[in-house]
Amino acid sequence: MNLHVINTGFFKLDGGAMFGVVPKTLWQRTNPADENNLCTWAMRCLLIEDGDRLILIDNGIGDKQDAKFFSHYYLHGEDTLEKSLNRAGFSLDDITDNFLTHLHFDHCGGGVRYRNGDPAHVEMTFKNAKYWSNEAHWQWATQPNAREKASFLKENILPMQESGNLAMVDLQNKQFTEHISVITVDGHTDKQMLPKFQYKGHTIVYAADLLPSVGHIPLPYVMGYDTRPLLTLEEKQRFLEEAADQRYVLFLEHDGENECCTVTRTEKGIRLDRTFSLSEL
Ligand SMILES: [Zn+2]
Repeated sequence: MNLHVINTGFFKLDGGAMFGVVPKTLWQRTNPADENNLCTWAMRCLLIEDGDRLILIDNGIGDKQDAKFFSHYYLHGEDTLEKSLNRAGFSLDDITDNFLTHLHFDHCGGGVRYRNGDPAHVEMTFKNAKYWSNEAHWQWATQPNAREKASFLKENILPMQESGNLAMVDLQNKQFTEHISVITVDGHTDKQMLPKFQYKGHTIVYAADLLPSVGHIPLPYVMGYDTRPLLTLEEKQRFLEEAADQRYVLFLEHDGENECCTVTRTEKGIRLDRTFSLSEL
C-alpha cells in the first residue's frame, strides 16, 4: 500500500463555530483568529494505492458555487485537487474509488464539476470512479434536516447518483476493501465513515470531522456544527482512548498545519502526543 497526501487548499471558518462551547480566550491560543473571527483550516485528502485500486478519501470543496457562497470561506493556498494528484503521479481519470466520509460540502464538493463553468454541463470529476457513501448517510443528506441543509448541497450530491457512479459501503461488515475497514460515528452527522488501515506497521485512521484538528483533542472542544454534540463527546472519548492505547496515527483533514498526530493518556485526559507529516512514517 502507498499513501499520498492530497492537499486541495485552505478555507476559513468561524472559530467559535469550530470550537462550540469553548470560549475564544482558550481556543485562540492554538488557533488565532483573523479580524473577522475566522480561523484557517485545511481540506486535506488522502490517496491510497491499494492493490489495483486507487482510492481517494474525500475531495475538497470544488468550485461550483457562486462568488457569494465562496466569499464566506476565503479559499486560499496554491494546492488544488488536480495539481496534488498530478504531483503524486496520477490524473483524475486514474481514481477508481472516491470514498466520502460524509457529504458536507467541504468534503465532497470536488467530486462533481461543471464543464467550462457551465451549470448545464455537469460531469463527474473522476469519471472512472465509484463514489462511496452509505445508505443511511445518503438518506440523511438527500432529505436534510433544517440545521444541516446549508451543508448538504444538491449540486454536489445528486449527480453521483444520476451518473450511475454512486456506490454504498456495506456497514454490516464495516469492511471497505480487504485492507481498509470503516469506523462509523453519528455525532457530527449521521453515519460519518472513518477509514482505518495498516501502513508500515502503524494503524492509521482518517479522522475527518470526528477530530478535525489537534485543537479538538480535549473533550469539550466539539464543533458547534455537530448535530449530536453529547454523542460526539462519547464517541470522541472512546475513540481517543483507543487511539492512545493502540498508538493510532490520526490523519487530520482540517488541521491547518499538522498532517498527522498521535495522542496519549494524561491525568487531565487524552492529550496530544506529537505531530508529524505522513512522510515521516
Ligand atoms: Zn462535516
